[in-house]
Amino acid sequence: MAYDPQVIAAARAQLEQRRGQATNRAAAMRARLCEQIPRLKEIEQQLAAAIPAVAHAILTGNSEREIARIREENLRLQKEMAELLHKAGYERDNFEPQYTCPHCEDTGYANGRMCACFSQLLKDEACRQLSGLSCMKLTDFDDMQLGYYDDTVDARLGISPREQMQGIITYCREYAAAFTPNAQSLLLQGPTGTGKTHLSLAIAKAVTEQGFGVVYSSVQPLLRKLESEHFGRSEGDSEEQLIACDLLVLDDLGMEFDSPFYRACLYNVINGRLLENKPTIISTNLGFSAIATRYGDQIASRINGGFEPLLCVGKDIRQLRRRRAME
Ligand SMILES: [Zn+2]
Repeated sequence: MAYDPQVIAAARAQLEQRRGQATNRAAAMRARLCEQIPRLKEIEQQLAAAIPAVAHAILTGNSEREIARIREENLRLQKEMAELLHKAGYERDNFEPQYTCPHCEDTGYANGRMCACFSQLLKDEACRQLSGLSCMKLTDFDDMQLGYYDDTVDARLGISPREQMQGIITYCREYAAAFTPNAQSLLLQGPTGTGKTHLSLAIAKAVTEQGFGVVYSSVQPLLRKLESEHFGRSEGDSEEQLIACDLLVLDDLGMEFDSPFYRACLYNVINGRLLENKPTIISTNLGFSAIATRYGDQIASRINGGFEPLLCVGKDIRQLRRRRAME
């Protein structure tokens, strides 16, 4: 997959940081132990001296016997070191850097191939950068306050808005807990301020915490990024990443500028993910007929057929909160 150079640079920087930390920790441990047990330092020096001794033995011709002697001496020294460390409550491993990924020793490559840890870092970083997660406040299901929803039965729903939202919160909580990369796509519909963004953020947080690659973004900035890449103003292949991530959350569909290019991008992403059986969560103020009017039958039929609709109801909670805070 083609990653944005910024994504690659950030993933490499993380590898370097991991490697640096492991090396520094090992060096600090070595210095501390050598200070505690001076004999360790002597052994280290003797072991280091063995390398030129072997070279000398090879050059002077009587290598076999001499090399065997050096090897035996080395084994004896290593055994002594292990015993000294063990007596002090440590192991020989404490002298070596403890890498996050022992397979590639945090270099990102092993046996001439990219290591799985580097692929994972690239994937995580791509999701993070596409999501702008640094400026996104992730939130929990527990922060949703049902007290703001009306408790009287709504004739159209047959239950109260509070009951309706209780059901949706439970559904979303279970959805997030049981998430798989082939989970159902969801359409969170309803007026402004009824908790759609809160719910989608809570799902994104719970799914991210399980180690899945989640891209969360409002529709407008994502489309702007795709546009800028398409017309060569910036590098990267965000469309590919939007289709490849484990969960894509598109917030506020319908609030973006309308253009044929944007509609085509949305279709490619939504359809591409449905074809790969990957879940997308869309939140929108638009009902099904408004989606069809605005985006055309192609997108509307994909959403209609492939997404589970969840109707969020109630009054604008942000306004209610503001009003109650002022009372
Ligand atoms: Zn690795």
